[in-house]
Amino acid sequence: MNSSSTSSSPSSTLLISSALFVFSCLFARRSIKDDSNDDSTLLRKAHSLRLSLSKPPLSQFRVVAILVTERKELIFGTNVESYGSLTNTLCAERAACSQYILQYPDQETRPFISTIYIVSDADVPISPGCLCREFLSGQNLSASQTRIVMQSADTSSKTWVSCLQELFPRPSLYNRLNIQQQLELGTALSLQQPFSGQSVGSLSQQDVLNLWNTAWEAAKSDVRDKVFPMHYGAAALIRVDDGIHRLVSACALKAVEYGSSQDALCQLWTLVSKQLEQITAVILVDQFGLLHTPAAVARSIWAEYGGGSVPIILYKYDNTPKAELEAVPMESLAPYVPKIW
Ligand SMILES: [Zn+2]
Repeated sequence: MNSSSTSSSPSSTLLISSALFVFSCLFARRSIKDDSNDDSTLLRKAHSLRLSLSKPPLSQFRVVAILVTERKELIFGTNVESYGSLTNTLCAERAACSQYILQYPDQETRPFISTIYIVSDADVPISPGCLCREFLSGQNLSASQTRIVMQSADTSSKTWVSCLQELFPRPSLYNRLNIQQQLELGTALSLQQPFSGQSVGSLSQQDVLNLWNTAWEAAKSDVRDKVFPMHYGAAALIRVDDGIHRLVSACALKAVEYGSSQDALCQLWTLVSKQLEQITAVILVDQFGLLHTPAAVARSIWAEYGGGSVPIILYKYDNTPKAELEAVPMESLAPYVPKIW
């Protein structure tokens, strides 16, 4: 966990409008500014803030995040918990992002975030979880190469330096596109025959086609367009005792409030988690027939509960999605998730 590594090539998808990365720095805004923002100084500042906080009620685990802008301004965040539910909580990284938005309300003039510092009560450096990785990847305030510097509760310990490109590989096909842009892109790509049928590894062309069709059908049951007009369906191909395969599918379940919605691959998990050894592959498809990487919540659940080796069929990816398909293990999409259970 203490190793340092970053990749060199930028990881933006072909489909992300470069305009979304454009930041001008026309206006100076009042904020805390620190010109001595070397790593050790800012880690000490984060620890000092952490130690001043009461422990949150459920986890008893304090996390402090500091976002450093290219103007060397500092934005702070800490985790917040409710008393009734572990899911109804807010991580330090996302809390800091909310502060950042309030501080720089105009998207066009927001300064870029150059470094994110994260410290916690843990005895090892804790990386952002998949939710925060996805969240940060989706914000046009940071880049895949934005440094993430992490340190354990021991202020003299070695730091772990990473970046979003390493922590959240293969972001969504629709990453950094607003909902109108997502619908337009989905419509445009669906006109180009979203799936023509390919064999993938040991899966025949018919196996892949059956999986895709089943997930696509399931996506039709994902309704409530007024809440969110994208539809997602997931399917698993499962070997049964006599060598016959069967298909199991599920769709997303939307609720009005953000965090109450259920992901299609997590819904599928509840149906197939007792048959992990028999799963040949899974797939996630939208209403346009396009294949998708799992959202953060599904990456976490599948990787943490023993489904990490299950292959998911995706477009080949080399900084941008390609037309050819491949199967990759779920766990490769959730690297460095701390195994603290
Ligand atoms: Zn988080």
